[in-house]
Amino acid sequence: MIPLVKPIFGKKEKQLINEVIDSGIIASGKYVEEFEKKFTKLSKAKYGTVCSSGTTALHTALLACGIKPGDKVITTPFTFIATANSILYCGAKPVFADIDEKTFNIDPKSVEKILKKEKKVKAVICVHLYGLPCDMGELLKLKKKYKFVLIEDACQAHLAKYKNKTVGSIGDAGCFSFYATKNMTTGEGGAVLTDNLQTDKLSKKIINHGRMAHYGHDMLGYNFRLTNICAAMGIAQCDQIEKWTKQRIANAKKLSDGLKGLSFLETPFVPKGYTHVYHQYTVRIKDGLRDKFMQYLKDNGIGCGIHYPEVINKQPLYQKLGYKKGICPVAEQAVKEVISLPVHPSLSSKDINTIIKVIKGFKK
Ligand SMILES: *Cc1c(COP(=O)(O)O)cnc(C)c1O
Repeated sequence: MIPLVKPIFGKKEKQLINEVIDSGIIASGKYVEEFEKKFTKLSKAKYGTVCSSGTTALHTALLACGIKPGDKVITTPFTFIATANSILYCGAKPVFADIDEKTFNIDPKSVEKILKKEKKVKAVICVHLYGLPCDMGELLKLKKKYKFVLIEDACQAHLAKYKNKTVGSIGDAGCFSFYATKNMTTGEGGAVLTDNLQTDKLSKKIINHGRMAHYGHDMLGYNFRLTNICAAMGIAQCDQIEKWTKQRIANAKKLSDGLKGLSFLETPFVPKGYTHVYHQYTVRIKDGLRDKFMQYLKDNGIGCGIHYPEVINKQPLYQKLGYKKGICPVAEQAVKEVISLPVHPSLSSKDINTIIKVIKGFKK
């Protein structure tokens, strides 16, 4: 079986984790600060706060950017549920914009349609889905015209670039996840990056019970801290992420070259000037064949997954909250057609050739 995901750990992770244990300082500590600096620098942001998960990073970023109960926040329904849930945590209301058919990312035209009729839109969370940056040029134009906070959900997009600008600090804040299956991991973990010092200061308070001094608290905060043990792993992963990213891109290129011209399959689309970091290599299977294709891959030892099998507005929780079906037709079609194939850096050339050969043998 060629697995869909495979986290990679080396000697350095073990060595640093042992150092932390030997030091006796396993919660907050100097490894957390070092990891924070290292990841911020790699992502070319000015400031960064590491925290306990991508979900808490999103929650923190929304609060640090001033999102209040009753505010409306536009996002995509074609993402992991955490993106929308983070809006609910703030007492704010997610408003779903449709996606672009080719990139799977939020469609700025759909965002503008909502901005024209909805008052009280305070923020937009765009998601760099699968590792492909959103159309930041168009989103920044809208931000200027309609004045809203722009938050990047970059949980799948470590080191991805929109026209030479690394994602995470193009908008007001960018959120990352270091969950076990992401392009780099600390087990559970996250980060909020920003070029705004005030946003960073506030983020650091929010994740630490609103603390301004030892046992002095002037706002409601949370315990969203990352541990020294997790951070030790993160430091070691930072040394590898550039190499792993190159490998993911090279693997994706081989897959796309090998899968060209198949009538039932569409390979990922990358707009000119964008760097896709392939958290997932996700193809579209047409003609209603996706589920049959998935069974075929499983029968032939190729790991695969569906990201995502349902749009958020159709999830039972959101149905209970009163969201309608059919509000984002492009996303609602995508959930029926997408399938992710292995692209991780541990794949050998032989694995990639096997994946291509198996797929070419699929009979409709
Ligand atoms: C993984 C992920 C999250 C949440 O990250 P966790 O670390 O699992 O909390 C949020 N948004 C997207 C797009 C993700 O892929």
